[in-house]
Amino acid sequence: MNYTNITVAGSGVLGSQIAFQTAFKGFNVTVYDINDEALEKAKERIAELRPHYEADLNAPVSELNAAIERIAYNSDLTQAVADADLVIEAIPEVVQIKIDFYTKLGQAAPAKTVFATNSSTLLPSQFADATGRPGQFLALHFANEIWKNNTAEIMRHPGTENRVFEEVVAFAKAIGMVALPLQKEQPGYILNSLLVPLLEAAQQLLVREIADVETIDKTWMVATGAPLGPFAILDVVGINTAYNIGLAKAKATRNAEFEKIAGLLKSEYIDKGKLGRATGEGFYKYPNPSFAKPDFKS
Ligand code: NAD
Repeated sequence: MNYTNITVAGSGVLGSQIAFQTAFKGFNVTVYDINDEALEKAKERIAELRPHYEADLNAPVSELNAAIERIAYNSDLTQAVADADLVIEAIPEVVQIKIDFYTKLGQAAPAKTVFATNSSTLLPSQFADATGRPGQFLALHFANEIWKNNTAEIMRHPGTENRVFEEVVAFAKAIGMVALPLQKEQPGYILNSLLVPLLEAAQQLLVREIADVETIDKTWMVATGAPLGPFAILDVVGINTAYNIGLAKAKATRNAEFEKIAGLLKSEYIDKGKLGRATGEGFYKYPNPSFAKPDFKS
């Protein structure tokens, strides 16, 4: 892998984190977004990441300054990708926006450039044709708070070249990620293929009144040695996200149980401002949740 110049397209929540982490690990980064106003916001978002690197990674100020210096900003797509080895796309999760973007990008980028999508729910094969270079396209999926939740799921579509897949795996490692290669397309990648059914099953046990939140979490923690049970994980994910997933599932399946789950999350949690860890309360109260107490698992 001899990538040097990385362009990050879309500088929102994830794009700004990917840009900063990549620069922090020594690559030249260009941030591309739709206009200069969006790029000004990106500069603010990136500056706000610095204290996290200091607190969580003990990163020295000199290294953070050097990372900032390695980031350029450009709202002209052709200029932003002119010498890019890799473009990482983190633009909105809307199919048509991504198709339009890849169509333009395929024309603007030099032949050498590899494209990677950070999409959480869409598959690379949906955009492979629009790129005009399906062999040089795949998914590279990060988790929020990339500097500490450092997974990178690298997922190929049937047309991805082996060389490209291996290069992107090596790149992910080079920017400090634990690289997790997926040899075939899988909606939800590995993590959400495991996590979503677990969280869903926990909520089903609750609305069926089989057991309460603490008993369900305790079962998982004691039996598997996991540090968090499913409801503690839901507090990290956020109750709003869990509600949106439950609601979508209720609509898609017309299953009364999912409607009950969504209803419970809304009336007992969202309407009462209990949105999870971020607001200090969800299924548990923070900063001292009952599941962290020494006698919880007895
Ligand atoms: P966001 O809304 O925070 O940011 C999107 C950015 O894209 C904005 O800066 C916006 O100005 C820009 N944008 C819009 N249209 C564009 C275009 N045509 N060209 C270039 N830039 C454009 O979104 P986000 O949460 O960072 O998510 C971005 C992608 O990352 C999505 O595909 C999402 O599935 C994925 N993702 C998000 C998370 C997360 O926790 N937020 C985690 C993993 C993956």
